[in-house]
Amino acid sequence: MIRRLCVIGVGLIGGSLARALRQAQAVGEVVGAGRDPRHLQQAVELGVIDRYSTDLAEAVSGADMVVVCVPLGAMEAVFRRIAPALESEAVLTDVGSAKGCVVAAARAAFGAPPPRFVPGHPIAGTEKSGVAASFAELFVRHRVILTPLATTDPEAHARVRAMWEAAGAEVVDMDVALHDEVLAATSHLPHLLAFTTVDTLARMHDHEEIFRYAAGGFRDFTRIAASDPVMWRDICLFNRDAILAVLGRFRDELAEVEQAVREGDGAALLERFRRAKAARDAHAALLNRQESGDRKSEVGSQKSEGRNS
Ligand code: NAP
Repeated sequence: MIRRLCVIGVGLIGGSLARALRQAQAVGEVVGAGRDPRHLQQAVELGVIDRYSTDLAEAVSGADMVVVCVPLGAMEAVFRRIAPALESEAVLTDVGSAKGCVVAAARAAFGAPPPRFVPGHPIAGTEKSGVAASFAELFVRHRVILTPLATTDPEAHARVRAMWEAAGAEVVDMDVALHDEVLAATSHLPHLLAFTTVDTLARMHDHEEIFRYAAGGFRDFTRIAASDPVMWRDICLFNRDAILAVLGRFRDELAEVEQAVREGDGAALLERFRRAKAARDAHAALLNRQESGDRKSEVGSQKSEGRNS
């Protein structure tokens, strides 16, 4: 499907995509690119890429698919460096966690977003980073959001969709601004809360005692505070407006909780917690139904594969 894939930024996401496409036999050659040759050599040794270059223009030359998997703050510089060397038929996509800023970076670097540029964002990840943390199954049964523009070439869009489907993902399309609002609420806000919670507790004078008694709930809630600080700094800087909107809303709600605690307003607290529990239970039930549907359709397709053969 892809003759030569160039992955710029062979870390958790870029490395996992390369592994998944190799496993699916959906790619011929994989060329890696980045800043540090030691990281890229490690990717070769792990069998994630075939070869690499730290010269981004050289790395994209001859590639029919280029996937940019660097932190948001590096996107524009990467686009500028590859712009003169991209093949005219090459499809360009990215995996950045916010989309308005990547489209703006493409506009700044190319003059206008190229028609064969298809912005994307896999809704999958772990709190680890680097190629050693990458694995082929990362995207299986996870969503990938594509945010094509009015000017995006439908054939390029279809190729990026097919690439993610080959990696096991379910692909959906979304408007750029809606993507940034939805992700600010569902991913960026919870990460900010986790980072701030851990940082607040860690700077209390008796923090060792506090952490000693932290149980499973604390571990579940704060797992994502182990995520990469550079990536999260960039997300805050580059999805600023959407994050500020949801943070403002959250701060107002938290102030109401604080007031209810101060005033001993048990009814207000109970009403809020019941409402939250009902919403969480409904969400969990929906996920369970989706998962059992997935399992059934897998069994169905295994059976029909068996019949066909
Ligand atoms: P990662 O594991 O740290 O990988 C980032 C890669 O980019 C590294 O290989 C790094 O290699 C390279 N890089 C960094 N700065 C660069 C630059 N200026 N020029 C060229 N290469 C550069 O990070 P990741 O988790 O894969 O995240 C990559 C992208 O995916 C980010 O845009 C993030 O928003 C998005 N994303 C992440 C997740 C997640 O959960 N982790 C989920 C969805 C989307 P060198 O240091 O060797 O250059």
